[in-house]
Amino acid sequence: MRETPSTNRTECPNCGSMNVSTGAEIERFLYGKGEDAVELSATVPVHTCQDCGFQFTDACGDDAKQEAICRHLGVHAPKEIVGLRTR
Ligand SMILES: [Zn+2]
Repeated sequence: MRETPSTNRTECPNCGSMNVSTGAEIERFLYGKGEDAVELSATVPVHTCQDCGFQFTDACGDDAKQEAICRHLGVHAPKEIVGLRTR
């Protein structure tokens, strides 16, 4: 089972080369606004073109961030719902 999977080919958007390697990088990003913003980190697959050195991410990166956000929300379940006004 060492055939190249046809669905897993990544093309460099910069030069069109298929000589692209994929690595994982920790990407930090802010979630939330203002004082409630927290810094989350996600392991994002980063593609690097071996021909021109161009680095890029794809939709998998967004999925990884989404997962980090869900994990954050799950771990830090808010005890008080901010924005709920009781009068
Ligand atoms: Zn390239």
